[in-house]
Amino acid sequence: MSIKPRILMVMGTRPEIIKMAPIYYELRQRGIDPLLLHTGQHNELAMPQYEFFDIKPDYIVDLQRNHILYPEKPYNPGHDLSTLSGELLNKISELIVSASPSTVLVHGDTSSGLMGALAAFYHQVPIAHVEAGLRSHNEYNPFPEEMNRVMMARLARWHFAPTQRAQKNLLAEGIAKEKIHVVGNTIIEATRLGIERLPKYLQAAQNSEYQFLKDIIGQHEQKKIVMVTMHRRENQASNVMQITSAIKELLEKYEDMLVVWPIHPNPKIRAAIHNVIGDSADNTISRLHLLKPLSYPLFLWVMQHAWLVLTDSGGIQEESVALHIPVLILRDTTERPEVVEAGIGILAGTEKGSILHHVASFYRNPSKRESWRQVENPFGNGTAAKCICEILLAGSGSNENLPKTIAGS
Ligand code: UDP
Repeated sequence: MSIKPRILMVMGTRPEIIKMAPIYYELRQRGIDPLLLHTGQHNELAMPQYEFFDIKPDYIVDLQRNHILYPEKPYNPGHDLSTLSGELLNKISELIVSASPSTVLVHGDTSSGLMGALAAFYHQVPIAHVEAGLRSHNEYNPFPEEMNRVMMARLARWHFAPTQRAQKNLLAEGIAKEKIHVVGNTIIEATRLGIERLPKYLQAAQNSEYQFLKDIIGQHEQKKIVMVTMHRRENQASNVMQITSAIKELLEKYEDMLVVWPIHPNPKIRAAIHNVIGDSADNTISRLHLLKPLSYPLFLWVMQHAWLVLTDSGGIQEESVALHIPVLILRDTTERPEVVEAGIGILAGTEKGSILHHVASFYRNPSKRESWRQVENPFGNGTAAKCICEILLAGSGSNENLPKTIAGS
């Protein structure tokens, strides 16, 4: 009788939950009950996503660190990341000892992912890295994500790369070819799951938030809905002011524009946005909807009806491609050049003048936007989760490369 692998999935941020959900389902369909550790890196943002996907973590880290709890202290990202990482490493390590997984599955580039991988390495448990090989080639942008993923690549045994380019990046860093599998990105399955479940979700969600969004979406044929999000550390200083100021000017200039902006809970971002829009005219303000973060289905619902997306988010760029909505990337570097090469995204930067210029070009040339919507998705055909499970389950009995004490031979 073959022994079932004990797969521990470590996740804690909104995008990890969304992109790992399809793998969780695929494993369960194959009779494997993965163990799920929620690290608590995001809480407010994470819980609605678990609920929507009907996934219950088996373990939850009760993180003590949270800079929002200490608003009087000056913001110090270095210190904050050290505290977070130290706590995560301790707690994930403790769990690995008690749960004894045979494989640890981590995602992307978060502190949860890196500390999950490091804890697994310390206990000599093989690591599978989902969404491996993305690189901006700039160690401080995005920070700390670029170096998180570089370090995760040193530790992983399975590298699940979404694209050929990601594979190339890993090969250039000396990762052995046989350890890399180009499988596409699980965001495609997540988006599909989100859209499929949307009608039932909307039927159940007859609350004020739903009604509010329904009214906005109802205007999408007369108005141009622009969806905005921003959360990266690099954008939290003066960039947020530049971007907000650009949004304000766009609303003043284009009377048929309507902006939906779910704001990240970071108090610095909120304060900066309110600072800039404080003195705007009523007509502008009435077309600027600053919202709380939305649950995944509601977010997708609005996005489906958007004319344009402005974001610094990685996952939202990928979803823009999946939903065929052109996207302006509010960053100076990208680890997803595929979005730009596919012809559906522009690396617009964070300067007001550049954002205004790019939006104006869509107004001037509506056919350009239509042609953008026809592009092929560079992130695969929606089978990434299936491939990952097949590869993992085929290889999980193998002890190659583990020290003898662990391999038990
Ligand atoms: N998202 C969401 N509600 C929101 C904003 C974003 O559900 O109000 C989802 C979005 O659809 C995407 C993910 O969150 O799947 C992206 O997360 P985030 O931008 O925080 O991180 P990144 O992808 O940049 O790592």
